[in-house]
Amino acid sequence: MKIIDLRSDTVTLPSDEMREAMAGAELGDDVFREDPTVNRLQKTAAELTGKEAALLVSSGTMGNLVCVLTHCGRGEEVILGDKSHMFLNECGSMATVGGIHPHTIPNQPDGTMYLKDIESAIRGDNDHWPHTKLICLENTHNRCFGTPLSSEYMASVAVLARERGLRVHLDGARIFNAVVALGVDLKEFSRHVDSLSFCLSKGLSTPVGSVVCGTRDFIAEARRNRKLLGGGMRQAGIIAAPGIIALDKMITRLAEDHENARRLAEGIANISGLSIDVSTVRTNIIYFDIETEHITAEQLRNRLEREGIKALSTGPRRFRLVTHYGIDAEDIDRTLTVLNEILSQKG
Ligand SMILES: *Cc1c(COP(=O)(O)O)cnc(C)c1O
Repeated sequence: MKIIDLRSDTVTLPSDEMREAMAGAELGDDVFREDPTVNRLQKTAAELTGKEAALLVSSGTMGNLVCVLTHCGRGEEVILGDKSHMFLNECGSMATVGGIHPHTIPNQPDGTMYLKDIESAIRGDNDHWPHTKLICLENTHNRCFGTPLSSEYMASVAVLARERGLRVHLDGARIFNAVVALGVDLKEFSRHVDSLSFCLSKGLSTPVGSVVCGTRDFIAEARRNRKLLGGGMRQAGIIAAPGIIALDKMITRLAEDHENARRLAEGIANISGLSIDVSTVRTNIIYFDIETEHITAEQLRNRLEREGIKALSTGPRRFRLVTHYGIDAEDIDRTLTVLNEILSQKG
């Protein structure tokens, strides 16, 4: 029985071509900047984002932290969404490691923050207050239904930031899902931010790694912060090689994941006892709720697991499912069949 793992797009495995590229990669010591494969990946990433320079880091979490440490000093403040990954799921790293203060404001269901909320969170000059330094955005927004933020919205945040002398960082762990869903060039997003981080290891399916992009000066300082965090890697071309393939071949296929997510959501909408707002499904992430009293999230998760389907429950009645490379339309149909069976067996 094939295991259908819908917990996350982080479970994706590298393609055969990626494995071959890893085996054959030309290597050197990247702390000495002598790994030609890492250099090639970083050059490609900088070109794709329209930024001057890029830096390979070990994870999205490290990428975000390296950027925050580069933008902010101790006692300075970051404005970010209360449902952002950086706030919820990164061990409070900016505070723990950097002495940097997170100032959360509400994320709307579409992943945006109201400009008026951002504006009123910006501190004035007062001895009691930390200095506001940075605004962080997340695109696509993981907790907010995987919604892609429009480049127009990002532009409006950039204008406000510029007026107030603030920087903007983008947690673009899944920015390529936004690129594909909205059909706009990556540069339409990156041009509105001072730094961005994107994951190679999620929808793009490489085993390890994220990339941070910004100006040459920013990346030079980010390199020091990466070293501080223990992220100076040596023959890192091993992980950069599949990244180069990912940026070349794995972006346009994300449309397939989006189609499968939609198919799954539409199927779930027809199962009595489950509820989903199909209009929220824009990329590869769907959330649905159990409406019936007959089954708990834990019971449903266990029943699915017995059928070889892995799902993530994110609350007592809520599930998140993520489509990705390795999940096809047949897997979606099987998942719907099993869900139907489970929900129709009442009591
Ligand atoms: C996964 C994710 C990250 C962190 O990436 P890791 O590689 O798991 O550390 C950051 N931001 C968002 C929105 C994510 O979904």
